[in-house]
Amino acid sequence: MQEEIVENVDQTANVVNSGGKPKIAYFSMEIGIDEQIPTYSGGLGILAGDTIKSCADLNVPMVGVTLLLENGYFYQKIDENGHQIELPIQFAVSDFLRLLPSTTNVTIEGRDVQLRVWYYEVKGITGYIVPVFFLDSNIEGNSEWDRELTKHLYGGDIKYRLGQEIILGIGGIRILQALGYKTIDKYHMNEGHAALGTLELYNQIEDIEKVREQCVFTTHTPVAAGHDQFELSYAKPMLGDMLPESILNDVTFEDKLNMTRLALFFSHYINGVAKKHGEVSRLMFPGYTIDSITNGVHTPTWVSEPFKVLFDKHIPGWRSDPYILRSAFSIAKEEVWYAHMVSKKKLIDFVNSRYNAGMNYEDFTIGFARRQTAYKRPDLLISDPQRLIDIAETAGAIQIIYAGKAHPKDGSGKETIKKIFDIMKTYRDKIKITYIQNYDMRIGKMMTAGVDLWLNTPRRPREASGTSGMKAAHNGVPQFSTLDGWWLEGCIENITGWSIGPEKTEDKESDDEIDRNDLYNKLETWIIPKFYTDRDNWIRTMRSCIAINASFFNTNRMIQQYVLNAYFI
Ligand SMILES: *Cc1c(COP(=O)(O)O)cnc(C)c1O
Repeated sequence: MQEEIVENVDQTANVVNSGGKPKIAYFSMEIGIDEQIPTYSGGLGILAGDTIKSCADLNVPMVGVTLLLENGYFYQKIDENGHQIELPIQFAVSDFLRLLPSTTNVTIEGRDVQLRVWYYEVKGITGYIVPVFFLDSNIEGNSEWDRELTKHLYGGDIKYRLGQEIILGIGGIRILQALGYKTIDKYHMNEGHAALGTLELYNQIEDIEKVREQCVFTTHTPVAAGHDQFELSYAKPMLGDMLPESILNDVTFEDKLNMTRLALFFSHYINGVAKKHGEVSRLMFPGYTIDSITNGVHTPTWVSEPFKVLFDKHIPGWRSDPYILRSAFSIAKEEVWYAHMVSKKKLIDFVNSRYNAGMNYEDFTIGFARRQTAYKRPDLLISDPQRLIDIAETAGAIQIIYAGKAHPKDGSGKETIKKIFDIMKTYRDKIKITYIQNYDMRIGKMMTAGVDLWLNTPRRPREASGTSGMKAAHNGVPQFSTLDGWWLEGCIENITGWSIGPEKTEDKESDDEIDRNDLYNKLETWIIPKFYTDRDNWIRTMRSCIAINASFFNTNRMIQQYVLNAYFI
């Protein structure tokens, strides 16, 4: 029985694969692969999902490994005072994933924890399949605490997190072996959460260099405090003999087991997720060779329906080869505008019917949606409401649509949601602002396609990459953003969008006052007048977003760089 299923999985993974069996295992704490499967919180998970989809489209022999996370991140409700309420998501696992008979186990604090695994297949455009495996500890026989470990994304305390990472890293390697995969020779860690997998490989192979040949590490965090680390006082007993004394010095930092250090130590290839982030990471971790591969998004996932119709008509082949979107320059401006207005109407209808927003189709609409946290400065745009109202009166009407969750423990992130709600209420009669609750892939798709301008205001250099602006570009929506992350590469002033604050060449940290002034000035003198009074040129900008940015900032280009630079060297 066991053998038969193993055969099946291996065969499914090779349906149209002429090049052999899976070679790359991609580990990610979260994977956002499907709107219906809530096992992600944001950028990291969506990137993982988009990566896997591009591998399927390009016949890259990969398998994905993650946790089941049956209660997801959380379902967000916001009361009328702007107070965020977090509810567990109920996800009908067996409607979407198939339970496999293969099992494995890990040891946590000396306890044996049994793991089972759920299967999902991602089918590429030619039918090539990339399997994704979801680890699950919610099995009878495991202790109550252990059964909780694969339920909540970024929930629980620090020991809960370490337990999850033992399952993802160590359990992940073991389940692939239990499933019968014998050809995998690259283990790609999407962020440090899966770094304990290197210890499992090391304990099996007992040769540091050989482990390094197999490991690839992508770091996503440009600030030291963001890296996972665990006090040895509890990490040692939890890991037991999985943590060899001989390498302890190399992987601890300030007496803590540091997941980034562990991944750095055991990887032959390390990268940041944008050129600038590569630089920042090299400064943060001197002594390591750190490359960069700029993120992308999966083109067919993020192009809205009306633009799909348009691209199918004018740019055949764009789904399998997004580079060809460069010829978007030749699409008639009226057709681009028509497609945009279909997407915009869908969004405006949604906020009007759900939130009584009273917005209209013709008014200039700004979108801001992402994790709500202080460094992203969600309230920068509305921090001087009177100024914004004056701009709307002189340059033209403005509508603003917000969305985004704050992490349950991020007090200041929650405060910014409140602030937005306060301003929304105070200025209700003067400026239309609405907040879409429970930001997820579906809302993200609707917003990045439906607004006229995509706003991003991270305090630099804290945005590793950012990807939502790439989704906007795929729908001809220009971005207006601080020059950080991918925007340093994607911004051509007044052609693909606009910058906020200091020039690309100035390596300055953000100053709120300078950025706010620049933001308001550009809105007033460049952006809004261009939208209302120079529509032809506005649509030229929209086409440039597609031709220049969507053709490059996609996961097909990205995964080809990983194949060349990280996997097959
Ligand atoms: C794309 C996306 C993100 C990441 O966007 P950033 O620009 O990196 O913040 C987060 N959440 C959802 C739901 C998304 O679709």
